[in-house]
Amino acid sequence: MVDKTSSYKDHVSTITEDGKGRKWMYPKLIKGKLYILRNIFAGALLTLLFAGPFIKVNGEQLILLNILERRFAFFGVIFVPQDFYLFVLGTLIFIVFIVLFTSLFGRVFCGWACPQTIFMEMVFRRIERWIEGDAKQQKKLDNGPMTTEKILKKTSKHFLFLLISFLISNIFLSYIIGSDQLIQIITEPLAGHVTGFISICIFTFVFYIVFSKIRELVCTMVCPYGRLQGVLLDSNSMIVAYDYVRGEPRGKRKREAEPDVIGDCVDCGLCVDVCPTGIDIRNGTQMECINCTLCIDACDMVMKKINRPKRLIGFFSDEHITNRKQFTVGRRIYSYAALILILSAILSFLILRRTDIETTILRASGTLYQMRDDGTTVSNLYNAEFYNRTSQSIKFQVVPQGSGTQIQYITKPEELKKGASMKITFFIIQDIKNIKSYKSDIKLQVLSAGKVLENIETTFIAPPN
Ligand code: SF4
Ligand code: SF4
Repeated sequence: MVDKTSSYKDHVSTITEDGKGRKWMYPKLIKGKLYILRNIFAGALLTLLFAGPFIKVNGEQLILLNILERRFAFFGVIFVPQDFYLFVLGTLIFIVFIVLFTSLFGRVFCGWACPQTIFMEMVFRRIERWIEGDAKQQKKLDNGPMTTEKILKKTSKHFLFLLISFLISNIFLSYIIGSDQLIQIITEPLAGHVTGFISICIFTFVFYIVFSKIRELVCTMVCPYGRLQGVLLDSNSMIVAYDYVRGEPRGKRKREAEPDVIGDCVDCGLCVDVCPTGIDIRNGTQMECINCTLCIDACDMVMKKINRPKRLIGFFSDEHITNRKQFTVGRRIYSYAALILILSAILSFLILRRTDIETTILRASGTLYQMRDDGTTVSNLYNAEFYNRTSQSIKFQVVPQGSGTQIQYITKPEELKKGASMKITFFIIQDIKNIKSYKSDIKLQVLSAGKVLENIETTFIAPPN
C-alpha cells in the first residue's frame, strides 16, 4: 500500500521537504532477535577487519592493497603491476557477484556487512546511546539549552568519536601501506614519517566527519550501490518488505479485533521510529532502505503484543506478498551463477599458471645491432625488468638458449627481494655465422638454483650472412 500523498518520493527521507535542511535521525533501539544476530555478525567482521593487517600468510599480509607501490597481496598470493589483467578479471567477478547477490537478497550487504553501517550502527551510535541516552533523551539534549551537562556529554562523545576515528584510520592505512610500516610510523620518531602521520590525521578527520555528521547520507546520497537496486531487483528478489496484503487496511485495533475487517498493521509507527534512514517501509521498496532489518524486529515485537503472527515486515519477495508464491530461483540468477563459475575458473587457471618471476625484456629503444671488435660476433642491447611474485628473496640469472649465444651484463642481477622489482641491462651476443635473417627470435631462460622460472622469447636483429 502506497502512501496516499506519495510525497515520500519527492525528497530524501532525511532532508526537509523544501530541500534546505537536514532531519537529524534519532532511531529507537529495539533489541530483537535479528539485532542480536547482526551484532554477533558485526563483531566477527570487526574482529576480522582489525586483525586482518596483522595476520600473515606465507610471510605476506592477509590482504594488502598498496596502491602507492603497486603491490597487492590476497591470502598470501602476491600480485605485481603486470598482473593487472587478473585484477580486472577479479573485479569483473566481484561485480557479477554483487549483481547476483543483490538480485537475490537486495541490499542486505549494506545493512549487515558494509563497514559504514557496522561502524555507524554498532560502534558510533552505541557510544552515543551510552553517553547521551536513548533516542528521546538524545533529542531532548540536542533541543535543550547549553548546560554544563550538555557540554560534558557532547565533549566526551566527540572525544571518543575522534579516538575511534583515529583507530580506524590506522587500520585503514595498514591495509594500504602494510602493518609493518604502520608500526614503524607509530614507534619511530615522527620526523622520519611525516607523510604517514599526515595521512593518518587526514583519514581520522574524514572518518570523524562521516560518522559524526554525514552519517546515513553516505548510504542515501553518496553510495551508488543503493541506486542500482532499481535495475537489479525483480519481483522474485527477497528484500525487507511490508506485507501489505496482510497489513492493510492499517489502523488502531483492539487486541481481539476481527482480522478480516482490518489489517494487522496497527499504525504504531515503530518501524519508522527504528529506521536509521528515516523511511516508512510500508510505502514499498525505497532506495534509502539499507536492509538493516531493524523494522522487522520492531514490528515482530508489536505483533507479539497484539497476539498476531510475526513477520508482517520480513524478508519477502513481491511474488510472495501479492501471489503467496514460494521463493524460486529464476533463469537470470542461474545465468549470473554460471558466469561467475566460468570467470572464476579462468581466473584460477591464470593465477595457477603464473611464474614466480614476472619478466619483461625489450630491446633497448633507439638501438640497432652492434658489430663486435672481434668481427665474428654481433650484439643487441636489452633492458629487462623482473618482479618477484613470491614471498622469499630470489637469486636468479638470465641464460640464453642455443649454441653461439652469450650474455654480457651491464648491470648484473642481484638478489630480488620478495614482492620487489629490479631492472637490468645486458647484451646478447651471437656468432655472425648463425645469423640467417635480419630479424630472428631468440630464447632466454630465467634460472634460480638450477630451476627454470620462466622461458622468454624476444627478437634479435643483425645483418644476415
Ligand atoms: S511496526 Fe508493524 S504494526 Fe507498527 S506501523 Fe510498522 S508495520 Fe504497522
Ligand atoms: S526500512 Fe527497515 S530495513 Fe530498511 S533501513 Fe529502515 S529499518 Fe532498516
